Amino acid sequence: MLAAALSPQVLAKYEPVIGLEVHVQLLTATKAFCGCANHFGSAPNTNVCPVCLGLPGALPVLNAQAVEFAALASLAINCQVRERSIFARKNYFYPDLPKGYQISQFDKPIAEHGWIDVPTADGSMKRIGITRLHMEEDAGKSIHDGLIDSAKYTSLDLNRCGTPLAEIVSEPDMRTPDEAFEYLTRLKEILLYCGVSDCNMEEGSLRCDANVSVRPRGQTEFGTKVEVKNVNSFRFVRLALEYEIERQMEVIEAGGRITQESRLWNANEGRTYSMRSKEQAHDYRYFPEPDLPPLVLTREYIEGKRAELPELPEARRARMIAEYELSAQDAATLTAERAFADRFEAAARTARNPRRVANVLLSEVGGRLKALGLEQEQSPVSMAGIVQAADLLEEGKISSKQLKQLFDVCFEKGEEFATVYEREKPEQISDAGAIEALIDEVIAANPKQVEQYRAGKKTMAGFFVGQVMKASKGQANPALLNELVTKKLEG
Ligand code: ADP
Ligand code: ZN
Ligand code: MG
Repeated sequence: MLAAALSPQVLAKYEPVIGLEVHVQLLTATKAFCGCANHFGSAPNTNVCPVCLGLPGALPVLNAQAVEFAALASLAINCQVRERSIFARKNYFYPDLPKGYQISQFDKPIAEHGWIDVPTADGSMKRIGITRLHMEEDAGKSIHDGLIDSAKYTSLDLNRCGTPLAEIVSEPDMRTPDEAFEYLTRLKEILLYCGVSDCNMEEGSLRCDANVSVRPRGQTEFGTKVEVKNVNSFRFVRLALEYEIERQMEVIEAGGRITQESRLWNANEGRTYSMRSKEQAHDYRYFPEPDLPPLVLTREYIEGKRAELPELPEARRARMIAEYELSAQDAATLTAERAFADRFEAAARTARNPRRVANVLLSEVGGRLKALGLEQEQSPVSMAGIVQAADLLEEGKISSKQLKQLFDVCFEKGEEFATVYEREKPEQISDAGAIEALIDEVIAANPKQVEQYRAGKKTMAGFFVGQVMKASKGQANPALLNELVTKKLEG
């Protein structure tokens, strides 16, 4: 933890500057430059061959699917895709990099100049620039603990060597840890929609390095940045940035200087540790990869990929808000996952009122699943059942109270909505005389509210509908009840 909490004056004096480097593993069947399976969780050192092990004489062949995925991702984040990009060798020694170099892209990456929009604290959207997306291969894994002889040895699993990655580098455009969190959330959502990566942080298929500096507010030049590594959840990125921003302010306030370095996030202690002073690009001695020709993509190819892009989350949200009259919050929940949004829309289009389907899905089913800690796939009620319930509600054949009771039974017994509805067939009072009698009672008991209604407060009708529905034990036909309440109050 920090030595002391910083005063609000100090916090207000400095402005944080944040830029993120995100690595995602591409979901190709095989590796970037060889035919080995690109698969997480295989027995150690089983998905390897002379190419990804870097044995002498083995030559890389570029995986076309990796290029497709990189191009799709680039276009989805509004980058310009180059017609000619170059692979480069990034040279460094590490035990999990048997080749002694990583095939990457340096000065001519596949894509540049993109952006994504993220929501900010005041609810407006802010555009975050994306410097570049480049293709590269992953290294293997050094395993330092958890094995029988871990106390004595470091073990190597080279299965990950040669896995295709896209590295997405943002401009230093973010100003708060929350903006960084939103950027990551949006970026992941977009990549998932495109189907180019599973973005699973636990399995390492999405990794983030966070660069951060602070500067006195009003100063145009950036301060010296620090790169925070090993942050394996978006929540930790936010925490690591919060910690690091305060640490830097504290150093500067005490008259010190920030050294450019890489720091490691320690989640247990909630702080960062100095790891090494940051190497410069020239330390890697990048040079063009002699074993791979330039990657040439035609205009037609690039435009073809653009045409393949799915409707992206932000556009989909806007359309669904307009088309189904959803709230922004509901639209966000429904579109968080593409498959879920697809299932919702396919169902909603068959319903009398799609908005009701959204309501039933989110409040009745979503609420219960959340309370039980279950996933959508574990719901006893299918989308078809949700549509049936929403239609019954829309037609006034059941009241919302009855709907709740039916869903209670579905979840108690693990039964489908149709089954429960057929068995319970909730009683409904559709006899106008009986409903009118109840309305008369409620009107007699609430003279003040009647007065208010007649003085012009038409929304009071809802109060009477609610009271009568209660008196009928939720069994009054809602459509008829509405009609009769208005008639009685007007009369
Ligand atoms: P390096 O050469 O050290 O890798 P880059 O210029 O390639 O640095 O930037 C790497 C990342 O750091 C980018 O995401 C960029 O936006 C971010 N960045 C660059 N300068 C700063 C800074 N002064 N403060 C915060 N982030 C920065
Ligand atoms: Zn291989
Ligand atoms: Mg860099």
